Amino acid sequence: MAESLETQNEEIMAQQEEQQVILAKLSERESELELITSYQEKLTGYVELKGFLQHTMPALLNSLSQDAALIVIERSREDVSSFEVMHAIGYPKEHLNVMQQGLFGPAKRVFEEGTTILHKRDVFGHERGVHGGILQAVDQYFPLFDDKQKVIGFLLLTSYQSSLFHEDNHRLTKGIIRQFGLAFYAQVMNDERRRQAADLETLNQELITEKQLIEGQRDLIQNILESAHEGMMMCDSQGTLLFANQRMHQYYQLNERIGSNLVESCHQIAAKIPNFNGVASSIEALLDGSLSHLTQRFSFEMDDQLQHAELYATIVSEDTEQQGYLFVFRDRTEEERVDEMKNEFISIVSHELRTPLASVLGFIEILLHRDLPQDKQKKYMDTIYKEAHRLSNLINDFLDLQRMESGRQVYHFTPINLLPTVQEVVEQWQDKQNHHINIHHPETELWVSVDVDRIRQVFHNLISNAIKYSPAADQIDIRLSVDQGKIMIWIQDYGLGIPEEANEQMFSKFFRVDNSDRRQIGGTGLGLAIVKEIVEGHNGQISFSSEMGQGTTFQIELNEYVLASMDGQIVIFEDDDNLAKLIQVALTKLGLPSTQLRSAEEGILILDRCEGEGPILFIVDIHLEGVKTGWDFIAELYRHPTYYRTPVIVSTALEPPHDYHEKEIEKFLKKPFSMERLIQVAKRLLDNKQSNAYVFPAQDKDSLSTTLQRNGIDVIDMKENMDMIEVQIKKPDTDS
Ligand code: ADP
Repeated sequence: MAESLETQNEEIMAQQEEQQVILAKLSERESELELITSYQEKLTGYVELKGFLQHTMPALLNSLSQDAALIVIERSREDVSSFEVMHAIGYPKEHLNVMQQGLFGPAKRVFEEGTTILHKRDVFGHERGVHGGILQAVDQYFPLFDDKQKVIGFLLLTSYQSSLFHEDNHRLTKGIIRQFGLAFYAQVMNDERRRQAADLETLNQELITEKQLIEGQRDLIQNILESAHEGMMMCDSQGTLLFANQRMHQYYQLNERIGSNLVESCHQIAAKIPNFNGVASSIEALLDGSLSHLTQRFSFEMDDQLQHAELYATIVSEDTEQQGYLFVFRDRTEEERVDEMKNEFISIVSHELRTPLASVLGFIEILLHRDLPQDKQKKYMDTIYKEAHRLSNLINDFLDLQRMESGRQVYHFTPINLLPTVQEVVEQWQDKQNHHINIHHPETELWVSVDVDRIRQVFHNLISNAIKYSPAADQIDIRLSVDQGKIMIWIQDYGLGIPEEANEQMFSKFFRVDNSDRRQIGGTGLGLAIVKEIVEGHNGQISFSSEMGQGTTFQIELNEYVLASMDGQIVIFEDDDNLAKLIQVALTKLGLPSTQLRSAEEGILILDRCEGEGPILFIVDIHLEGVKTGWDFIAELYRHPTYYRTPVIVSTALEPPHDYHEKEIEKFLKKPFSMERLIQVAKRLLDNKQSNAYVFPAQDKDSLSTTLQRNGIDVIDMKENMDMIEVQIKKPDTDS
């Protein structure tokens, strides 16, 4: 009994012991699981591999009580594989360098065998510095796998406390390493995907940029091709049409003829288009190689008009391989027209010159070779004189017109009262013929701003025509009037009249009405063309009305000119409107009223008519719009009995050279006074009521004095003051 009790007791004890072992194992297992789970939690939530390793590796060492860890990854780029230490903690630098250079021993084996390798070794010299005093280390190499169980790298854990190293917690290590390996691979893949996505994005951006570049280039080329005046078509070496620009479609009406069928061959197209009949065979010859290059002029009818064109063909080749042909069709119609005009012009001019020249030569010959009575001689000389005169007129007219048409005519605009000018011209004609010229005009003055010489030319031409083309009449009427800012002039004759069919061409050069009734009347056909050029150069208009056998009236319309007043004003002589505006704005800011005049003529005219308080200051530019200069005005002012004491500022020292075209900026720089200085001097002169100084920009005093004297201005004193010379003038000699 006692024995059995004892046995029972022993059994119970044994069971208890067994249970305790199981319990210990269970709790150990439990804590292992806990460790694994808590480590597992650390493995998630990282965006980048770097961050993942930075956080999970220390935790790994901690969980597994290890001292150092590193990760090596195999990288293969273009079939060459290399090893990279991705992350390491706890090893000296030298140790890592060894790893980078190549794998050997257990590290190499781990790759080849794909199993965990345990390796005890002596501590390397350089490791001692990091983990002092320890002689033995245990390395554990764990392979890292991809999803196909291929080894992609390894994890190395090292324990430097080999005495504490227990191989028996193998299960825990395995569990944690497994978790780590899975998470690591997921993270590697994740990183790879992100890198690829970034690469794709860069590539995409590059492609977009490239595409935009190509599109830009395409548009540019397209624009060039489409804006070209030439029709262009491109075909391949077989002659199949590849491209035709808009001009080609429009100009040669390709659309209607071939529709959008671009597969037709060039010469087929050419053959189909009646316009191209002339060149179709040449194109064909070029395509079959019997012609090496092509330049051809041809003409065709389009919309009932004869058109002229030129065709060039260029062989387009890339390196040595021939790609096709580019055909360029150039419209020469205008060119041909100009050519024709030029030829016609030369023949007219030479004819016009030859006729008077022939009679001059003819009569001189007679005079030279024959003994003629005195009266005959006189008669012939008269004829020679007239013909030579006609020749000279013709050449003058012709040159005038050339100058006007080429835009080289410079008009010197000055204001004039129209009536006296018209009267002057009329007087010159009054004595020369049978016609009486009546002028009908209103009481008011008729002011216009014109180039007087050119306006006289207009009246001369029109009056001369009125007389010439009314041989049977004895009267001509000129009417002047002003209405709403327009000055109207009518010149009416009672002569042959102008046939309706001539209306269109009346102002064309060399045009003359070819009627039997006027064959005997001489002329060049240039008069009216010149008149029209001049009137339009004055922003005016010219027209006429006529009735055959009754007479003709020419009508001219010019803008009325409103004369400025100088009373209480600063008068600025300046033909540059922008500069004048600037000065005026600056003066307005000081509350000073000002007026701009563009010519000395106008200034002299207004000064002469001025009766009130008069001008308060003059700012004078020397070079002005009319024929006269600023000097002419100053000289005139000096002679004025009342206003000669008005102060003057001369704003330019020198007259610019004849052919000098000022640019805006140069003008400001050239003017010796800056705007501020000009205004400052103006203000000073106005404030000092006694001053009657004429102010000039700094220059040679002697030459200024000479110039003043030459203009009749007597000087009392000259004071130099920085950038200017102030001249005190003497009271003019009023007797002279
Ligand atoms: P020209 O008088 O030298 O021939 P114009 O250019 O002055 O040249 O005139 C061109 C043509 O217009 C003249 O040939 C003439 O037939 C016609 N013509 C000009 N003025 C008159 C007019 N007042 N009456 C009738 N015909 C005129």
